[in-house]
Amino acid sequence: MEALTEKVKKHYSEADVEVFTRAYHAAQKMHEGQMRLSGEPFFRHPYEVASILIDLGLDISTVIAGLFHDSVEDTEATVAQLSKEYGEDVATLVEGVTKVNRVDFLSKEDHQAENLRKMLLAMSSDIRVILVKLADRLHNMRTLKYQSKDKQLEKAKETLEIYAPLAHRLGINTMKWELEDLALKYIDPDGYYDIAGKLTQTRAERKDYIDTVINNIQEHLVKIKVKADIEGRPKHIYSIYNKINDQGRHFDEVYDLIAVRIIVKNVRDCYAVLGTVHTVWKPIPGRFKDYIAVPKQNMYQSIHTTVLGSDGRPFEVQIRTRDMHATAEYGIAAHWHYKEGILEEDSMDKKLTWLRELLEWQTDTKDSKEFMESLRIDFFSDMVFVFTPKGDVKEFVQGATPLDFAYSVHSAVGNKCVGAKVNGKIVQLTYEMVSGDIVEIITSNASNGPSRDWLKIVKTTQAKSKIRNWFRKEMKEENIVKGKDMLEREAKRKGYEFQTLFKSEWVKSVFKKFTLQSTDDMYAAVGYGGITTGQILTKLIGEYRKENKVEEAMQRTAKKPSKATVASGVIVKGYDDMLVRFAKCCNPVPGDKIVGYITRGRGVSVHRRDCSNINMDEFEEERMIDVKWAKDEVSSYNVEIQVTADDRSGLMAELTNQLYDMGYSITTVNARMGKNQIANIVIGLEIADLKQLDYIISQLEKMAGVTDVFRINK
Ligand code: MN
Repeated sequence: MEALTEKVKKHYSEADVEVFTRAYHAAQKMHEGQMRLSGEPFFRHPYEVASILIDLGLDISTVIAGLFHDSVEDTEATVAQLSKEYGEDVATLVEGVTKVNRVDFLSKEDHQAENLRKMLLAMSSDIRVILVKLADRLHNMRTLKYQSKDKQLEKAKETLEIYAPLAHRLGINTMKWELEDLALKYIDPDGYYDIAGKLTQTRAERKDYIDTVINNIQEHLVKIKVKADIEGRPKHIYSIYNKINDQGRHFDEVYDLIAVRIIVKNVRDCYAVLGTVHTVWKPIPGRFKDYIAVPKQNMYQSIHTTVLGSDGRPFEVQIRTRDMHATAEYGIAAHWHYKEGILEEDSMDKKLTWLRELLEWQTDTKDSKEFMESLRIDFFSDMVFVFTPKGDVKEFVQGATPLDFAYSVHSAVGNKCVGAKVNGKIVQLTYEMVSGDIVEIITSNASNGPSRDWLKIVKTTQAKSKIRNWFRKEMKEENIVKGKDMLEREAKRKGYEFQTLFKSEWVKSVFKKFTLQSTDDMYAAVGYGGITTGQILTKLIGEYRKENKVEEAMQRTAKKPSKATVASGVIVKGYDDMLVRFAKCCNPVPGDKIVGYITRGRGVSVHRRDCSNINMDEFEEERMIDVKWAKDEVSSYNVEIQVTADDRSGLMAELTNQLYDMGYSITTVNARMGKNQIANIVIGLEIADLKQLDYIISQLEKMAGVTDVFRINK
C-alpha cells in the first residue's frame, strides 16, 4: 500500500498528494469487508487501477477517479458526495465509468450497437472516462484466472473486440498489447502458451542477437555523431500469433520477431539514423513506413523499416524522438501528462476529430446492424493516409475512393463532385486511394448532385450517410412533384382521373403495402424510382373496381358493342382454332405488346401487356398464354382516345372533320365538360395498327386549343 503513495509523491505536486491521500483512505474504508475472488481485499482492485493510471501519467483527478471507480456501484458512496469532497472532475469521471460499467457489449447485436453508442457518448464528454475504464479492464484481465471458465471467455472476447481496439485507437499501445496478450491466453490457451514457450526457449539466443545488433548500430551512430537510446524487444505474443495464423507461417518464419527501437533527440536525427541503418543493412522493399511525415490518426509517429540482418534474418527497426515515443506508448493519455501540466486544447480537439465524426454520423444511422458494420469498418480496420493539395493529411479506411475524400471535406464538396485528380492525373471516382496520394476534388455548380451508384462506390459510413441524406432531403421536394405528376399522367393514360382513385382508405392500403408514411412519401418514392406508378395504380384501380362494379357494368352496356370482339390477326401459340377476342378494357392494336388470358368458356381474351387488369392480383398466372400478332392479316381495331382541350365553339366539329379528312371512321364520340372551361372528349376509332394511332395523336395535338391527347385503357 505504501508503494502507491510513494509513486504519487514522486510525480505529483504536494497539493495533489494531499488530496490523493485523503481519497485513498476514504476509498479503502468504503470497500472495507469486501473481498475479491482472489481472496484479497477488494480495495486491491481500485488501488491497482489507480496505479495503472499513474503509470500512464494521468492527472490526479483521473487517478482519484480510479480509486473511486467502483464505489458508486458497489458501496454507499454517491456522485454528489464525491463531487462535494473531491470536485466535479472526479465525480463526473466516476459517474461516466459507472455508466460504462452497466454496458454489456456482448449482448444481442442491436444492443451491442446501442451500448457502443453510449460508450462513445461517454467518451466524447470526457475521454478520461475511457482511460479509467481501460485501466479497470486491464487489472481485471490480469486477475482473470480467479473467474469461472465462462466468465473468462466472455471477458477475453469483449476485451479483444472492444477494449484492445479502443486502446489502439487512442494510441495507448502498451495497454493494447497487454490486453491482447491476456485475452489470447484465455481464448486460445494452447496457441498462447506454444508461442510463449518458444519465446522463452529462444530467449538467450535472441538476447545475444539483439545485443549484437544494438552494438552494431551504436558504433555506426557514433560515426555520424547521433546520440540514441536503443532497445530491442520481441514482438508481443498476440501479433506473432496473428502472423502465424493469418499468414499460415511457422514460428521460425515470423520474421520481425525482433524489433529494435532507436530513440533520438529530434526529427533530423531520425532521418540520419534511417540513412545509416539502410547503409549497414539491406532494407526489405515495401516495408518502409514514414509515420513521421504521415502520422497515424491515433497520433502515432515513427519511422518503420525492416532490414535483412547479417545472418539473413530480417528484423524491424523503429526510429522516433522521445516525444513521439511517449505518444506511441501512452497515446492520448500523454496529453494529460503530469509533467506537462497544461492541456493543449487545440491539438486535442484536432486529434479527437475522428471521435466527433463517428458521433456525427452515428446519430444519422438508425439501423443498428448498419451501425455495427460501419463501426467495424471505420473504427477497427486498416487505414490509408492521403494528402490534400495543401498538404494536410486525411485518413481513410482501406479501399476508400475520391468520393469518400470529397465528402470528408464537406457534404457540399461531395454533392458537387464531378471528378478527381490523384497526383495530378484525372482518375475515375471508383479509384481506390493508396497512402501518399495527393487527392484533388473537381467540383462543379452545374452538377446535379450525387448518383445512386455512389452508395456502392464510397467506403466510409460518413460519405454513405451524407449521400443518403441528400437523397432524403434535397431530392425530396423534386421527387414529390415528379412522382405526383407521373402518377397523374399514368392514371390518365389508364383512363382515370387520379383524384377519383385517391380515396383515403384506398390510399391507406397502398401505404400499408409499401410501408409508406404519408402521401408525400408515396410521391417521393415514385419520383425517385423506388416504387413504380403501375404498382400503386394497380392497387388503387383494384380498390376502385371493387367499389364501382355496378357503375362500370352499366357504363359498358350503355356503350355500343365493339365490332371486333372476335379477334382476327392474333396467333395463339400452340393452338390454331382457339376462339380469340380482344379484351374491352384495353383494346389492343397491332404493335402493342400483348398477352392471352384463357377465360372460362369464352376462349382466349387478348390484353395489352401493360393492361392494369392483367396485372391485377386476381388474374391467375397459369392461365396466361403467349399470343402474337399475325403480320399479314389486314384488319381493323377499335381504340378510344381522349382529347383534352380548351372548350370553344366549333371544337367538336373540327375534331371530327380532321379525323374524317385523315380517313378514319369514328365509332363513338362522348364529350364531357370539365371545370375551368376544359372539355374532355372521348372518341372511339377504327384503326389498323399502333403506327396509325400514334399518327392520329400527333395530328390532333397540333390543333388549336388541344392540350392533351392520349389513348384510353379502361
Ligand atoms: Mn473495477
